[in-house]
Amino acid sequence: MMRINSIRSGIVIDHIPAGLGPDIFNLLELNKADYTVALIMNAQSDKMGQKDMIKIENQLNVDLSILGVFGEGLTINVIDEESIVHKVTLELPEQIHDILSCNNPRCISTVERNVEPSFTLVNPQDQIYRCDYCDHLYYVKEELHAHH
Ligand SMILES: [Zn+2]
Repeated sequence: MMRINSIRSGIVIDHIPAGLGPDIFNLLELNKADYTVALIMNAQSDKMGQKDMIKIENQLNVDLSILGVFGEGLTINVIDEESIVHKVTLELPEQIHDILSCNNPRCISTVERNVEPSFTLVNPQDQIYRCDYCDHLYYVKEELHAHH
């Protein structure tokens, strides 16, 4: 059982695949936070061997479901008064409109600044997404890891 006593009220992102914690930390721009945040790497996990975790002493006004792209089973715990009041286990999103950007230089979403990137999950097993504009395929784990 994980102890969450370092957070009174906020969010704990748990079961992050080991090594991807910093990517999520950067994505959520927690390096700019003016509230307490903690990035824990290589914590022991019965299920995963090792995992990363992020503790945030704040409620974030962003849709965290997109973080499912970092790994199925990633968990969002909402903490209030030092106990978990809400817990969501994420799945791979069917659609992605941020986080990823197409790296095909001729893709309309690369050329036109006002075209929002759009990707569709085509292979959940291997976490492969396809650009909706140019059909480029993305193995999302490698993409996320390479992009910072
Ligand atoms: Zn594209």
